[in-house]
Amino acid sequence: MDFTLTPEQKSFRDEVRSWLAKNLDEDWVARLRQGSDVPRPEAYQLLRDWQRRMYEAGFVGLTWPKEAGGRGLTFMEEMILHEEMALHKAPPVLNILAIGMAGPTIIAYGTEEQKKRYPPKMLSCEEIWCQGYSEPNSGSDLAALSTRAVKDGEHYVINGQKVWTSLAHIADFMMLLARTDPDAPKHKGITYFLLDMHSPGITVKPLKQITGDAEFNEVYFDNVRVHESQILGGLNNGWAVGLTTLMYERLALGFGLQVRLRIALDGLVELARNTKKNGAPVTKDPVTRQKLAQLWIDTEVFKYTGARAITKLLKGELPGPEASTGKMMWVEGHQRLQELAMEIEGPYSQIMSGTPWSLAGGLWQHTFLRSRANSIEGGTTEIQRNIIGERVLGLPKG
Ligand SMILES: Cc1cc2nc3c(=O)[nH]c(=O)nc-3n(C[C@H](O)[C@H](O)[C@H](O)COP(=O)(O)OP(=O)(O)OC[C@H]3O[C@@H](n4cnc5c(N)ncnc54)[C@H](O)[C@@H]3O)c2cc1C
Repeated sequence: MDFTLTPEQKSFRDEVRSWLAKNLDEDWVARLRQGSDVPRPEAYQLLRDWQRRMYEAGFVGLTWPKEAGGRGLTFMEEMILHEEMALHKAPPVLNILAIGMAGPTIIAYGTEEQKKRYPPKMLSCEEIWCQGYSEPNSGSDLAALSTRAVKDGEHYVINGQKVWTSLAHIADFMMLLARTDPDAPKHKGITYFLLDMHSPGITVKPLKQITGDAEFNEVYFDNVRVHESQILGGLNNGWAVGLTTLMYERLALGFGLQVRLRIALDGLVELARNTKKNGAPVTKDPVTRQKLAQLWIDTEVFKYTGARAITKLLKGELPGPEASTGKMMWVEGHQRLQELAMEIEGPYSQIMSGTPWSLAGGLWQHTFLRSRANSIEGGTTEIQRNIIGERVLGLPKG
């Protein structure tokens, strides 16, 4: 990959830089964590407003076609944007499941009507999306899902349950995978629906995580009616459509996570600089220095691995199973980073809030606990290893 920026790319970078410098509210982390537990309406409002402002400035959906409300730019600009967001420690985009997954899938498979209806409101964060894939008895083995959709005139009637559904408690739409043909082989009887989360018969029950937050939910469907025009990509074709979403998920993760890892590492170095042990800053300790240096190297490697995936996209190829290596690098790097934060804080790491050296009163304890989910969400580490073994290295199926 050629990392030299063209004059147009340089001017795009300057545009992003000057916008961020003018528009970024520096204490957003503190505001997000003010008061009681997150999530709470104000925290979401802050992130909604941020995404809307980014969209109005033209920085959401860079690679989406102009007809879908995007800017029709390349993944190179997307990478520049993420790099600048990392350097400026900018908040994440809230509607990430729409921007990174649902939107590109609708653009790839949608009818003209669907392509006109959904993408613009995803970009502006007017309509938030969630992903209804996992069920109590099907996670890694997604094709075993049992939520049923039974035809009734022009509608399908949905019954069943999803679980671990991130953002369902604030979502307006769901990417729903449901079984439409129970007699077909399991990969062949699934359909992908664009489901209105405000439909009668949907119950959302938040699940509290180890962090104390309730980011994800159980979602129950009790005779929920969805019109057949809400099918994406054809009846019983949900497996192919659903996998496209997952490929985009890993790609979106690659971009977003590279930024998050870099921000977390910068924060960790600051924590080490501000923390004294035996009368000297922790950054003077040779073992800690080695660990920080290794994390810096890993973060750079992660960035360049992402760049390889981008090269593929720039050549017009689809994201492939190599994205799984990126997911693995993120998980291992991020969990090690969070463990080092706990090591640096020492006994104070046991206190959830108000530690004298923590950057934002318990932020590191929170992110440490949250990082345990990294090796499960978006496909577990074992599943990523299977994909890498079979599809990248060409090893026989286990
Ligand atoms: C924070 C978070 C957010 C999430 N958000 C969403 C969401 O928005 N939407 C959604 O649909 N899902 C979501 N998930 C669910 C996630 O995708 C699943 O948890 C994940 O795919 C694993 O499925 P499972 O929990 O059913 O575990 P299982 O599939 O039951 O796996 C249990 C264990 O067995 C291992 N295992 C299973 N099969 C194999 C195999 N073939 N080879 C080797 N080991 C194997 C797994 O690695 C794991 O360690 C989220 C999960 C988390 C933690």
